[in-house]
Amino acid sequence: MRLVLLGPPGAGKGTQAAYIVERFAIPHISTGDIFRKNVKEGTELGQKAKDYMDKGQLVPDEVVVAIVEDRLKEKDCSDGFLLDGFPRTVNQAEQLDSVLTKMGVEIDWVININVKKETLIQRAVGRRICRNCGATYHITFKATKKEDICDVCGGEVYQRNDDTEETVTKRIEVYIKETQPLIEYYSKKQSLITTDGEQDIHKVYKDILAALGE
Ligand code: ADP
Ligand code: ADP
Ligand code: ZN
Repeated sequence: MRLVLLGPPGAGKGTQAAYIVERFAIPHISTGDIFRKNVKEGTELGQKAKDYMDKGQLVPDEVVVAIVEDRLKEKDCSDGFLLDGFPRTVNQAEQLDSVLTKMGVEIDWVININVKKETLIQRAVGRRICRNCGATYHITFKATKKEDICDVCGGEVYQRNDDTEETVTKRIEVYIKETQPLIEYYSKKQSLITTDGEQDIHKVYKDILAALGE
């Protein structure tokens, strides 16, 4: 199964991705996670990406596409994968199509998670992430059992520095301008599934599975 998760910042892509990749035993490719790891490790890529991320802007297409192309060529992606947060521009989607065509495969489904602006801000601002394993929590909607300690690995839980109300508002604007056109792009290809992301986490997951015919 080759899947793309589409949706504005804070919609619940990463949260749903964790369940979907476990269910279908496919790798989870999150461009945001790749960039955060590189920023943390201080790599050249991390240095390139950091300023854009802090300002809520997109990292240039050529940088992102090259990373995804390399990742898709790894062996564990040969039977399927889930792309989370990529593509984010029509140009990225077109380049992804040509990479996949060269590989002789195509995307099966694009899952679009629909959430309104006020909910997105509330979700992103309350988001907390495990520094060690990347598990995602929310101070109200998915709290850790022990304060600031990851349920999965016992790691420290922190707030992303781009999850402020100001930066999230900027990221939503960027989403509307750059990423929303992908809904039309993929609906023309008849591979689009739309889910109501306002529902609770488990109901959203149930709807996604049902749409995938599971
Ligand atoms: P994205 O990857 O789309 O930016 P996340 O999966 O990180 O979004 O979710 C953003 C925040 O909202 C997280 O704190 C997460 O725990 C929470 N969240 C995700 N889905 C839901 C939901 N259906 N209801 C309530 N909170 C949610
Ligand atoms: P969210 O789902 O909350 O928007 P992500 O973790 O997916 O957050 O992305 C964090 C940041 O990483 C983005 O604001 C952007 O700067 C950068 N980024 C991630 N994916 C892409 C992409 N496909 N194209 C350009 N920039 C990206
Ligand atoms: Zn953890």
